[in-house]
Amino acid sequence: MSHEHVDRHRAALAELLGPALIVEPAVLETLRADKSGHLSGAPPLALVEARSIEDVQATLRYANEHGIPVVPRGAGTGLAGGAIGGAGELVLSTRAMQRVLELSVADELVVVEPGILNGDLNDQLAAHGFWFAPDPASRAISTIGGNIATNAGGLSCVKYGVTREAVLGLAVVLADGRLLRTGHRTVKGVTGLDLAALMVGSEGTLGVIVEATLRVRPRPQGTADTVSVSFASTRDAARAASAIMAAGMQPSALEILDAAALRAIGDYLNQDLSDRGAQLLIRTDGEGAAEAAQRALKLAAELGGRGELAVSVEAGEELFATRRAFHGAMAARGEVLIEDVAVPRSALADMFDELERIGAQFDVDIATVAHAGDGNLHPNFTFQSQGFDAAGEPIVPDEVWAAADAMFTAALRLGGTLTGEHGVGLLKRRWLRTEIGDVSFELQREIKRVFDPRGILNPGKVY
Ligand SMILES: Cc1cc2nc3c(=O)[nH]c(=O)nc-3n(C[C@H](O)[C@H](O)[C@H](O)COP(=O)(O)OP(=O)(O)OC[C@H]3O[C@@H](n4cnc5c(N)ncnc54)[C@H](O)[C@@H]3O)c2cc1C
Repeated sequence: MSHEHVDRHRAALAELLGPALIVEPAVLETLRADKSGHLSGAPPLALVEARSIEDVQATLRYANEHGIPVVPRGAGTGLAGGAIGGAGELVLSTRAMQRVLELSVADELVVVEPGILNGDLNDQLAAHGFWFAPDPASRAISTIGGNIATNAGGLSCVKYGVTREAVLGLAVVLADGRLLRTGHRTVKGVTGLDLAALMVGSEGTLGVIVEATLRVRPRPQGTADTVSVSFASTRDAARAASAIMAAGMQPSALEILDAAALRAIGDYLNQDLSDRGAQLLIRTDGEGAAEAAQRALKLAAELGGRGELAVSVEAGEELFATRRAFHGAMAARGEVLIEDVAVPRSALADMFDELERIGAQFDVDIATVAHAGDGNLHPNFTFQSQGFDAAGEPIVPDEVWAAADAMFTAALRLGGTLTGEHGVGLLKRRWLRTEIGDVSFELQREIKRVFDPRGILNPGKVY
């Protein structure tokens, strides 16, 4: 786009949007990145910080008419590069739209704008005895709009479901500026195609979410108990996790850390965790939590684990401190490629074995934590910075890409998927077709064309 065009578009958009249009170079520079480690080649044309549905509609009408690419963005904490803006693109942020519009106690739902942070929503709900269950580790820093657009998950999803299970209805501005209202306020509802579900996980490629009707739950009553068990190997820990699920204990978190993760966390926290081949963390909540925790501890011990039980919330938090330190421990080691494959629960132990094999084969450091109850693994590849390439992307060493490629192949072979909760974005585009197949790939591109005929919404991402 020429300087002349840039100036012309900025002037026209400023007229339409007033102070919602931001062109300060320092601000635009921050929009080249999210948390994926990717960096676009140049800053975007402008940022629209929408304050209302009308701002979003005006932006998309203008962009559609002039064929300008639009990158929807929440808080920019995404790990797949989906919210990154580049040269000639408009970044459309919904972060400033953060009101709670309605809380219905009788219907157990809340209506919110997309920019509210997951953690802030939960703080407000707590005062009424409710909570919004999807709990990405980034809940304090990520928006509900971003959570919906990526179908985010977290530790509690093993019991309470991922974001898709908590979305009843959405308001979405389409590429041409029309406002689509879809979904229900009712518990049930099967009229027409489920376009709300289609929007969940669509990563900004089909429309801009401007309002969400969300299912909320009464906060669990009773205690939350926590069990921490050390095992000689990830295979043993995975076997215990499977046994706990199969016994119907319904943990509200079930996490595995492998030996490499424990070593890194031990270094980071200055603790000696070297005696553990793997760690299994189990949380139970609600009615019968204490009994379920005791049963889980007993079962884990029968399968060779050495465990401890915490009954107070504070003591439970202490047991989870190793898990919470994982991201910090990884960042302290250098550059990190955070991965997100998922396999059927029954294949979890095999996937851990594959990761060990791949790490050795490619001589790459891989440390893994897993939401074991969901079969969702986060292998973290650490490497030393080698600078940025011509497109501004961090240079990931060839052996790391080769190892990631082997990991995706292994996950697919085991009946799994490329991404359990982070999305495709830029990072996994190259593997998408392999997983979903030609028929699904073409059909999804057709669906994209129906919603966005001029291809202005997040081009270059996902497809
Ligand atoms: C330390 C850390 C821990 C994390 N842990 C987890 C985790 O446990 N589970 C998990 O699932 N993720 C996790 N993430 C990833 C990230 O926080 C989630 O993907 C989150 O849902 C992104 O929200 P966001 O507001 O930052 O969205 P952004 O990063 O701004 O955007 C993400 C995607 O959503 C689209 N988007 C954003 N807003 C809208 C909108 N209003 N309408 C349409 N599309 C939109 C963007 O185009 C982009 O494709 C973690 C990230 C970090 C940094």
